[in-house]
Parts: sequence; C-alpha cells; structure tokens
Amino acid sequence: MSVTQLQHGASIRAARWRRINPASFGVAGLTALIVWVAVTSLLGQGRLAAVLSAGRAELAAPLLIALVVATGICERIWPAERRPLLARGHLQDACYLAVHAIAVIPLMTLLSVGAATLIGGHARWIELPWTQRWPLWLLLPVTIVAMDGANWLAHYADHRLDFLWRFHALHHSQEELSVLTSFRAHPLMHTTGFLLATIPVLALMPTRPIDPVLITGYVCIGTLQHANVRWTFGPLGKVLVSPAYHRLHHAADDQGVNLGVVLVIWDILAGRARFPARGDAAGRTGLDGRPVPVEQDQRARPAVLLLGEQLIEPFRAAR
Ligand SMILES: [Zn+2]
Ligand SMILES: [Zn+2]
Repeated sequence: MSVTQLQHGASIRAARWRRINPASFGVAGLTALIVWVAVTSLLGQGRLAAVLSAGRAELAAPLLIALVVATGICERIWPAERRPLLARGHLQDACYLAVHAIAVIPLMTLLSVGAATLIGGHARWIELPWTQRWPLWLLLPVTIVAMDGANWLAHYADHRLDFLWRFHALHHSQEELSVLTSFRAHPLMHTTGFLLATIPVLALMPTRPIDPVLITGYVCIGTLQHANVRWTFGPLGKVLVSPAYHRLHHAADDQGVNLGVVLVIWDILAGRARFPARGDAAGRTGLDGRPVPVEQDQRARPAVLLLGEQLIEPFRAAR
C-alpha cells in the first residue's frame, strides 16, 4: 500500500471522527455501566422482576395517568396557546410518552438501583448516622427537599455543560408545549440526575425506603409544569413550580432562569427565579435556530423517523 493510500485512509478516519461527538458516547457508556451494575446485583438477589414492577407502579401510577388525562382536558378548555388536538408537537410528544412507558421507566428504575449500589458500595461515609434517630415526619420532608436540590443541580449542569446540554436540548426543542412534553426527554438525559439525587437519599435515609406514594406525588408535580395552561398556582407558585413559571424556562431565546424541578427555592437562592404575573401573554418556546430537528419544520420527516433522528442527534458533532 502506497504512502498516499495510507494518508487517504487516515484522513477518511479523521473525517468520520469529526462527525461524531465522543462525549455523548461517554454518557452512554456510563449509563450502560450503572444499568449493568443494577441488573447483575438484582439478578444475584433474584429480585429483578419484582423491582422493575415496583418501579412501574411508582412511575406509571394510576394517579399520574389520571393527572395527565385531566390536564389534557384542561388544556383544551383553558389553553395558554390554542392549537389543534393533533398538532405535530402533540403527536411527537405522544411518541415520547410511548418510549417513556416502554423503555424509560425500566431504565429509571435500574439507574436508581445502580446508582445506590455504586455509591452505597464505594462511599458509605456519606451516610449520616445521626439522622437515623430523627422522626420520619421530619426526615422525609428534609430528604425530599434535598433530593429536589440535587435535581436542580443536575438541571443546572444540563444547561452549563455542553456534553449534557446536547441531551437536554431535545426537551427544550418543543415549540408547542403540552403536558406530554414532560416525557419528551432523551433517555440518556436522566443519568446525572439519578446519580446526584441518590447522594442525599443515601446520606439521610440509608436504611429506610421512601414511601412510593411520595415519589409518585413528586413526579406528578414535575409532570404538570409543561401543561399548556396559564396557571401560576397563586401564592403556592412562590413555593412550587407552576406551568406559567416553567414556561419561562422554555423561552426560545433564554433558558437561564426558572430551573426548579418541583421547588422554586433553589432558583431564588441562585438568583435565577423569574415569577410570572397573572394574565401574562404565553411566550414563544423552543430553541432559536433549531439546533435539534423539530416536527414543526416544513421539511420534517414522519413522527417515528424524526424521533430516531432526534435521539441520534447528540451523538453527531455540533452543527
Ligand atoms: Zn432545562
Ligand atoms: Zn421542561
């Protein structure tokens, strides 16, 4: 083989590398490692099927399904932005709901178990023994508030670190927000959140499990925030993230405010809270310049093909 052919082969390989984003493969590898730890540990205990079904009961609880349906009805009666029921944004996010039910719920369950196994196995020193004497009525709210703080930090990292933003951008790319947008997330977007949120739970409640009803309640509040309604929650909106508050985080030109997941306290402390006023016009959402392919683009592919394109997008080099 001549020197010219070798150089040609090397330049083709270099061009291929330039077309991919290695950091995203790193996140995928870390996720696979955590899932592998969870699966081997649960198989060893003979509890894999039981834990997966308990995870499904928590994350697809009838209460959550009823909330999504009721919110969908409210969106038709009092929409922040009026649009057809079968708007492309709604259909695309319905595809993400299906992916969530089939693949993301088991993934979340395994991430939670894997993160606890890894952190608990290698960093037992984070456990705070003195909190074990606290009564449950005190320990539970403190743990949930700390867990919400860890989720805020993971969300902040999603916006500050480019390799995490590449996964989070898909969630922000929705130009037609609805309750279904809560499920529009890249499956690999959840890894950092589960790793960070496991730390306060292991530190404060290493031996006592959190009641599944509380986890379902937490997920319900987090799901409501994408609803296409103008609800500010009145005075409660100064404590909990409301749809109007979270909509400001989805502004097309600035996503630096209102990063709260359930509580607004972390935004207030970080100087990043912007409270909506009653009667404010619903602002434009999505991402300026459409860095992620979106269904609202005239040239967009059919929903399922576009879904594949959107999921692959973080693995490509930035355009
Ligand atoms: Zn965000
Ligand atoms: Zn959101």
